[in-house]
Amino acid sequence: MLLLRFGEFILKGKNRSRFEKTVLRHVKEMVKPYPGVVLSKEFGRIYVELNGEPACELTDALKNVFGIASISPVKVSRSEFEEILATSRTFLNIIAPAAGTTFKVSARRVWKEFPYGSIEMNKLIATPLLQGYPGLLVDVKSPQMELRIEIREGHTFIFCENIAGVGGFPLGTNGKAMLLLSGGIDSPVAGWSSMRRGLEVECIHFYSYPYTSELARQKVVDLTRVLSRYAGVIKLHLVPFTEVQTSFTGIGQDNLIITLMRRAMLRIATALAEREGALALITGDSLGQVASQTLPSMNVIGRATELPLLRPLVMMDKSEIVGISQSIGTYDLSILPYEDCCTLFVPKSPTTNPNMRIVDKIEATLPGYQALLDAAVAGTETVSITPYGDEEPSDVIPVQVGIQEEWF
Ligand code: ATP
Ligand code: MG
Repeated sequence: MLLLRFGEFILKGKNRSRFEKTVLRHVKEMVKPYPGVVLSKEFGRIYVELNGEPACELTDALKNVFGIASISPVKVSRSEFEEILATSRTFLNIIAPAAGTTFKVSARRVWKEFPYGSIEMNKLIATPLLQGYPGLLVDVKSPQMELRIEIREGHTFIFCENIAGVGGFPLGTNGKAMLLLSGGIDSPVAGWSSMRRGLEVECIHFYSYPYTSELARQKVVDLTRVLSRYAGVIKLHLVPFTEVQTSFTGIGQDNLIITLMRRAMLRIATALAEREGALALITGDSLGQVASQTLPSMNVIGRATELPLLRPLVMMDKSEIVGISQSIGTYDLSILPYEDCCTLFVPKSPTTNPNMRIVDKIEATLPGYQALLDAAVAGTETVSITPYGDEEPSDVIPVQVGIQEEWF
């Protein structure tokens, strides 16, 4: 069996049961390809009965479920002394610890009717095990292997590993936000980090036909598909950005083009967020990484929206971001060399310190500026992306909607 433990949301009082149900639904989705698996839920945990299905493969899949803090492969015995001892022996034989491994038994008697107390059980189990494995050395302070025996009324669980899960909050339980998804390394990581905190994410991508290619668009679809492995289904909004972008090129303020573009993106994203009922925007900005991500730039750019602007990567180093992107499976796609709309008209020296007054003035005097933004919103195409293909199969996990006051 695999024992899955819930994460920090366990603290959230009466919301717990809703959160637990969301995790269970996500787990059900992940185990679908394994027909032998039987799931059951108990306070604070889920049991995954394997019935011959591959433990390692399932552990790898399930540790990515948001809200799961840790996973232990366990052997199950009836709560009866001889059987617990025999199962502990079997367990040890499977692990086959090398000679010289330090070891201790930690029993926990949850079911108080069991005839032996925890400390007594440590001795009663450890002594015969040590006789069978003379190479094991006892170390009760910091052993390399801790054989845990959890005695409950129905069953006793024997395990030693505690494999870290991804943690966070269950999918969609903290509301919805719009992710500005480029084809780069950062924004997919920002999206995954947001989903991990329980946000439902919809993606927005700005493209500039004919300056950006079909391949660049496909790259973003593929990136969204990788993210959808963690969410079941993700909406992707594709925004035609050429007209807006080219409107900035003839005004003689080339060093402000990126600032103006970013502000336009936030405005359009805000309109889409309102339409979709999302309460925040997310970007992959990381402080100081490029000219548009200095503090003065963030200040001027961020003022283009009244929505909370979430920047999950703001204080992270590039190497940490790259590490996450590799582990979530977006890195190889992100480094494909297709141009992004922002790299097209990049000025020689984009400003790191834009002047708010000048930016305001340019935007106020650009002919038909608001109409251009409105047209981009109106021309936006929306597709639902799933791990399986562009169609949305009916049996994927429904994404949680909205936020409910009583949860807090
Ligand atoms: P990324 O790796 O996410 O592209 P970056 O370091 O290349 O980030 P920029 O290109 O300056 O940084 O973009 C900053 C943020 O602006 C991105 O993380 C993303 O959230 C948003 N963004 C940039 N270009 C686009 C685009 N074409 N469509 C949607 N969002 C974009
Ligand atoms: Mg980029």
